Formats: sequence, C-alpha cells, structure tokens
Amino acid sequence: MVSRGEKPFRARQLLQWLHQRQATDFESMTDLAKSFRSGLATDAVIEGMPVLRDNLSSDGTRKWLLDAGQGNAIETVFIPEDDRGTLCISSQAGCAVDCRFCSTGRQGFARNLRTSEIIGQLHMANRALPVPVTNVVLMGMGEPLLNFDQLLPALELMLNDHAYGLSRRRVTVSSSGVVPMMDRLSEACPVALAVSLHAPTDDLRSQLVPLNQKYPLSELMAACRRYLAHAPRDFITFEYVMLRGVNDTPEMAWMLIDLVQRESVSCKFNLIPFNPFPGSGYERSTSTSIKTFADILSKAGHVVTIRRTRGDDIDAACGQLAGQVQDRTRRSQRIEIHERA
Ligand code: SAH
Ligand code: SF4
Repeated sequence: MVSRGEKPFRARQLLQWLHQRQATDFESMTDLAKSFRSGLATDAVIEGMPVLRDNLSSDGTRKWLLDAGQGNAIETVFIPEDDRGTLCISSQAGCAVDCRFCSTGRQGFARNLRTSEIIGQLHMANRALPVPVTNVVLMGMGEPLLNFDQLLPALELMLNDHAYGLSRRRVTVSSSGVVPMMDRLSEACPVALAVSLHAPTDDLRSQLVPLNQKYPLSELMAACRRYLAHAPRDFITFEYVMLRGVNDTPEMAWMLIDLVQRESVSCKFNLIPFNPFPGSGYERSTSTSIKTFADILSKAGHVVTIRRTRGDDIDAACGQLAGQVQDRTRRSQRIEIHERA
C-alpha cells in the first residue's frame, strides 16, 4: 500500500474486505476511495479457480474439484463435525513424492499452486458454506513442504487476525517428512504438524514413501523433536495408512511403539483406513486388524484415533476425483524425488 502511495492501514482494510467479507470485486469496497479502487482493479483481479464439480455427500461432506489448467484438477474437501468444520486443502496439482498407496502420487507432479490458489480454497469455502471453516488441514493433494515459498504467505493469512484469524493449533500441515523444510516451517510459522509415518522400519517405509530413502526414520524423528520445541501443540500427529497384510500386524504396532519411545517423540496416532483406487495393488486392512492395532498402541499409553471414512459416496478420499479428469499422459513425467527434494 505504501508503494502505491497509500497509508499502511489500507492493507488491513483490504485484507478484511477480501478475506472476512469475501468481496469478489474492488467496486464493492465502499470505504476505499474510488480512485484507489479503480487503481486496484487495473492491477489485480479477485478470481477463484473455476469449479469443475461441487458434490455434497449424504453425511454433509462437501467436495469441490477445481480446474488448475492444462488438464489438471485439484480438490478441496469440507468435513463438518459437531464442534468444528474442517477444510482439507491442496498445495500442489499432483505430487512428486510418489507414495505407493496414494492416488495423487500415482498421477505424478504437475505444478505448485500459487499462494492465491492455496488461500483461494479457504475463500471459496467460506463463501459457499453456511458456517465458517474453523480448522484447516493441508491434507489434500500435494506435499505442502515442497511448495514452501507459496505455502508460507497462505499460512500467514490463515493466522492473520485481519484475514481468517485461525489459531496455530487449528491449522495443520501434513508432510511425508521433508526434514529441512520441517525446520523452516518451525522457524517461520509453527503450526500444528502431522507426519505421514506409515511404517515403523526404514525398509518398509522406503518402499511405501520413497522420500524415506533421502530422510530416513532417525532423521525424521530428530526433526520431529526439534519441531516440538516450538510447536503450538505438544505432540506430533503420526498418520498411518492401514494396508492389509503390509503394515497392519501386531508386530508392526509393537515396533511402532518401540520407535517413538526409543526416539522420545511425543505423539498421537491417526490410523487411516486405506482408500482403495483402481490398480493400487493394496487393500484396506480389516476393521478387526485396525481395532487390534489401535488397542496395542493405546494399551502402551498412546492416544489413537481411527479416521472415519467420510464422503465415500462422492469419492472424497485423497486424489480420487481429480484422478478421473487429469491428463493421464502425465504419469510418464513423474519427477524423481531424490533429485528434487
Ligand atoms: N502430502 C502430504 C499431505 C497430503 S496426503 C502427506 O503425505 O502427508 C494426506 C494423508 O493421506 C497422508 O497421510 C497420506 O499418506 C494419506 N493417504 C494418501 N493416499 C491415501 C489412501 N489411498 N488411503 C488413505 N490415506 C491415504
Ligand atoms: Fe504426495 Fe502425500 Fe500422496 Fe505421498 S501421500 S504422494 S506425499 S500427496
């Protein structure tokens, strides 16, 4: 604003118009001078990504499919619960990490979303929903910490009192474990952190999450300990996708307990029943084995939640709807994470 010859407080007004009153044009910002408004309209647009689909599940889950251009689409999912409404947003079109059980990973990497496209998902949802979003999780498509420069200003807007004013505890970044970027997030904007663990040993984790070859468990656990020193919550959430016969045995649960205790990482576990997709080669663990696995962890004193599958009737699970529309030729352009990260 200063560089435009305006008073600094205009920035605050503009933030409020955009993110609290969800203005969709500059003309409606009536407490700003007309000349200022028309100058903004010359230099900028307020525009969301085109909505390709907008589906409402019978359980209230709502899922938008947004056009990211060039045959790519991303997803945003709203999950209503009794005491909160969580928006799951995407950070990239596709993903280069290529986890074996992930439909987004199988689609390959297309591009990073811009800050405006990340925060735009929250803007769109708050306009569309009868109640405002109370929690944001970066658990849609993409690896948020591999798009750090665009992610950071979006996180800051989520926290800014003149924009969305969410507390740090209500904004969660989920990462497959990009160790150096976990440190940068901790320094720049410590929000709640979820880490996609999925296996208690390096051998198995390297198969499921190829990034583990670059940042093995000992380094990941050390990064979690460093993160906890400044985190808004005193635990890391470990996500663990339950794959039948792969990582869901009682032995795996004991090894997992041993890992987090040996490494002294204060944590909670979130067990995610695998969402199958065609050609994945994996199956969802049985509900009995998920329950047994959870019981072993909780008897050892750990807090465990089993993620409820929501919005099954609208394919609200990771990357599934976008996978139906994206350009399949991109599979061959998958980027090797070992070179990128
Ligand atoms: N890239 C980040 C965030 C997006 S994925 C990450 O990996 O953490 C959000 C969560 O969904 C991750 O824990 C991921 O491993 C999990 N996930 C991916 N594909 C899944 C599937 N088919 N079924 C269940 N969970 C899946
Ligand atoms: Fe990327 Fe996360 Fe999917 Fe792995 S699980 S491929 S990091 S989106």
